[in-house]
Parts: sequence; C-alpha cells; structure tokens
Amino acid sequence: MSDSTKQVTDTGTDTERTSPQEGADVSEDTNVVIDGMTKIFREDDGSEVVAVDDITIEVREGEFLVLVGPSGCGKTTTLRSVAGLETPTDGRIVIEDQDVTGFNPRERNISMVFQNYALYPHKTVRGNMAFPLEVRNYPQSEIDERVEEAADLLSIPELLDRKPNALSGGQQQRVALGRAIVREPAVFLMDEPLSNLDAKLRVQMRTELNDLHKRVGKTTIYVTHDQAEAMTLGDRVAVMNNGKLQQIAPPQYVYDNPANRFVAGFIGEPPMNFFDVEVRQEGGDYIAECETFEVKLSEKLASDLESFDGDMDDLTLGIRPEDIQDASVAEDLVGDRNTLEAYVRLVEPMGSDKFLTLTPPDEPDNLSREFSARVSPDSSIEEDEIVTLVANIEKMHLFDNRTGENVSPI
Ligand code: ATP
Repeated sequence: MSDSTKQVTDTGTDTERTSPQEGADVSEDTNVVIDGMTKIFREDDGSEVVAVDDITIEVREGEFLVLVGPSGCGKTTTLRSVAGLETPTDGRIVIEDQDVTGFNPRERNISMVFQNYALYPHKTVRGNMAFPLEVRNYPQSEIDERVEEAADLLSIPELLDRKPNALSGGQQQRVALGRAIVREPAVFLMDEPLSNLDAKLRVQMRTELNDLHKRVGKTTIYVTHDQAEAMTLGDRVAVMNNGKLQQIAPPQYVYDNPANRFVAGFIGEPPMNFFDVEVRQEGGDYIAECETFEVKLSEKLASDLESFDGDMDDLTLGIRPEDIQDASVAEDLVGDRNTLEAYVRLVEPMGSDKFLTLTPPDEPDNLSREFSARVSPDSSIEEDEIVTLVANIEKMHLFDNRTGENVSPI
C-alpha cells in the first residue's frame, strides 16, 4: 500500500494562516517559512537522494513546532537547511520576513542545540555559555548579565565555574541550552537534544523544556523521531515520511484525525491496529467486514462514505488499541455489531491498564494478523483464552488502500 503523499496542513485551530507564494509576504505572525523546499543530495556515483521533497511549513511567532518521523525521513536535513548548514536544491527559507536562503548560518538570527552537546571541555560552564557572545564582541558587562540570567532560568547558577566533565548528562544539556539562550535569537533549532539522556531524565528534561519555552517564548523548531516527545512538546507537530510532509497540526488533532495510514500508524503507542475490510451497505447502515469480524460503522463514518468515490471493497479499518476493551468490563460500550472475538496471546499488566496481544480466534498462531488492545486494569482476561472484546465505533478510521488517505475529510 502506498502512503499518502498529500501535504495536509489543517491546524485544528481557528487561527488564520496564509500559504506563502513565491516572493509573497508572509503573514504577520509567521516567524519562519520553509517555502516549497527540496533538498537532493548527489552521491559520487551520480545517484541522487531526495532527502526533502517540496515541503512548505509556516512556523508562527513563539510556536514550538516539532518535526517528527522515522529515521531517514528528512527532518534533520530540513532543520539544517533552516540553520544554513545545508543549501536547498529548490525553494526558500524565510526568517523574520527576510529571505535567508543564501545566507550563511552566522548571518541568520538562530541558535542551534544538537544531540551531542558539543561543549568545550577546557572551558567552564560560564565560559561555554559566554562564548557565542564573546565571538560577537558583546561588552563584558552584558555577557555576564546574560550568562547569569540564562543560568538562573535553567537553575544552574551553582554550576557556572565547573567544567563539563564534572557535570551529569542532564546538566550538560542545560548548559547547551543556556549557550543557545544567551544570544536571544529569533529562532531556536533543536536536533534530538534529549536523545543522549536516560529515559527518566528525558521525561524530566521534556518538562523543563516545556517550561523554558513558556518563559522564553521563542519560536522553536525541534526534531525528534520519538512520537511521545513530539506529542508532549509540540504546539503543532509536522509528521514527515520519505522526505514528504504528511500532516501538520496540533498533536491531539493529529492523533484524533490522522491524515493517512502512515500518520495513523506513527502517532500513538502502541500503534493503531489495521484490518483489511470490505464495506457494504445494509439498510441505512454501513458494515465493515474483515476476515474474522464485522462492525457497524458510526454515523459520522457512514456519512463520510457517502462522498467517498473510491473502492468500498479496498479499505483499511483502523482501531487504536485503547479503543478496544474487554466486553465484560466495558458493558456500556457494547451495542449493535461492535464486538469481536480474539485469542489472547499475551497479557501485560502496566498498572494503569493491561496490554493484550491478540490474534484471530480461528488462527491463534498467525502472528501476521496480530493486533493489540489496551484494556482497563479491572479486566480479568487471561492468556490462551478466547475472549469477547468491544470496539468504540466512534473512534474508528477508514483508509483508502489505493492512496493510504483517510476516507474522512481532515
Ligand atoms: P535520522 O532521525 O536518522 O537523523 P532524519 O529524518 O533526520 O533521520 P536526514 O538525516 O534528514 O533524516 O536524512 C534524509 C535522507 O537524506 C536519508 O536518506 C539520508 O541518508 C540522506 N542524507 C542526509 N544527509 C546526506 C548527505 N550529506 N549525503 C547524502 N545523503 C544524505
């Protein structure tokens, strides 16, 4: 199945947006525009890699925008192009209403924070944070003031006289952030800044970054392959795949209204379950039928299908694991044709819920047809039994197998 290549830029908010045209002014509250950018790398053997394929993203003043997608989807190349570390093959980069496409990084009003903090080992924390200002010949009094302000903001004033090798990973990351903050740039660019930290510290630093962003209020473009990080940090997330922008919207909107099957499978953990279905009409109802169960579709999906001009026999039904429950616990949810039977391969109690790994009841060993559910901890479902589950039909999605696109308008 091919993933959708359509760029979807529904914001899920009522904020007015403009589409930048070649040479046109951008909207007033827009801070950075990646305008129709393509980046092609040419290898020595003459072959080409299209790292970024005609992407347009408008980043608003003060916004925290997360570029997220699997490894190799082009997010770092996009960020490096905004920074001036790569030259776009086509399209342009606009920062604060100025076309900076041909500018070198030092001529752009940006600060970048990388995955490896790249601190100078022989300099103290103070020296590291002061460095970007020293090379720009700021007066010493202003350097001292800004470094101390940033150190306070990051709660590291007591570390100012230490060298990086006497700091924990989290502290080093704070210093790297401090070094970016002191310049007071128009835009922060961050490339997986938390990925060298252990899981617990990552979550803590995520909260700190959120908090820092609220206080500093600067436009930030943040790259990660971690969808959970994208969901928690972004005002909006831009989901990329194969160099193409798949969808850009607030995180909850993307979760609730994925533009295509790729986005549906990428955002959400555990990922959405997909079932090949044929949809038929029965009276006024629409019934989705897969090999082992059938469900009645919601009124909303039925109405969306009215205007669908594709093949009703060639669809994929998407149900998130959290939208499949133990029918004996979630009795309220049980309605007209919304239950299914499954064989339980694995039960993983997580405390807040139980993860079930399931297969069709008549093919318990067919791992290619595995799917999952995230049921209430009150469920007493056990492994190796056949159980009845109930699906929340209001939360289901249908995707067109030809294009991968969501049948519902996004
Ligand atoms: P990751 O999360 O692994 O860093 P990414 O989404 O940031 O991945 P990019 O680093 O932007 O992806 O790479 C996009 C594509 O461009 C990949 O196929 C990569 O191999 C290719 N690419 C990146 N830099 C170069 C380069 N300098 N020369 C050739 N190909 C490159």
